[in-house]
Amino acid sequence: MGESVLTAHVASAVKADAPPAIVLDGVNKWFGALHVLRDINLQVAAGERVVVCGPSGSGKSTMIRCINRLEQHQEGRIVVDGIELTDDLRSLDAIRREVGMVFQSFNLFPHLTVLDNCTLAPIWVRRMPKKEAEERARGFLNLMRIPEQAEKYPGQLSGGQQQRVAIARALCMQPKIMLFDEPTSALDPEMIKEVLDTMVMLAEMGMTMVCVTHEMGFARQVADRVVFMDRGEIVESGEPEAIFNNPQTDRLKLFLSQIL
Ligand code: ADP
Ligand code: MG
Repeated sequence: MGESVLTAHVASAVKADAPPAIVLDGVNKWFGALHVLRDINLQVAAGERVVVCGPSGSGKSTMIRCINRLEQHQEGRIVVDGIELTDDLRSLDAIRREVGMVFQSFNLFPHLTVLDNCTLAPIWVRRMPKKEAEERARGFLNLMRIPEQAEKYPGQLSGGQQQRVAIARALCMQPKIMLFDEPTSALDPEMIKEVLDTMVMLAEMGMTMVCVTHEMGFARQVADRVVFMDRGEIVESGEPEAIFNNPQTDRLKLFLSQIL
């Protein structure tokens, strides 16, 4: 059931006349004196899968966190699905409705069951009837291949299972766009694949995704485009093959030599 709901939803989000999913236009951000995002220009089309990579501290998290205003940029424009991100709370609300986010550290509510983690926001923010929210959540837990975990608490699950709950929870809000910030970095190696597999599945269903990750196998498999950041700048971007096999800058060559 999760799959059919998601497929229909994704299809409606990726219409031919859909505006770009995400536009970052001349975005600059400082933390105090530290210039962390430098003239970022990035467009993500509806249905596109973008992988963001780069050294630690290069601004990857800050960039994707600005998209749903977990961080606030100071210069430039951010437009999500045609909605400009402004100080108007209605624009922020509208954008957060469209954007699901998955973090490195799962961020589940430890005192709630898996099912309640997944239904909390749909019930309280979207006013969805409880029964419908639970049906939907079970559908997505099924899609994430953890239907049997619904009544457990996060602490009883492995890291890979917790991260798949976090993905299911985000999907329960029916986002048009999913942002992932190093979703497998905190996982033991044997759990990385089970999480990446679910992300590949989402990608194959046509979900618009921006994913910060150093999993280059994943990037090669699903990314339409890889964006390489260093010191707050987008230094190179292109198709995975071009980025990995034919890097243009010394900075990217150095980065690839360190991770591959
Ligand atoms: P990445 O995700 O690529 O590792 P980040 O976006 O987390 O990089 O960080 C970019 C830079 O901004 C780093 O120098 C980091 O130390 C700094 N930074 C991140 N968050 C904050 C913050 N809340 N306050 C001050 N500096 C920050
Ligand atoms: Mg980061």
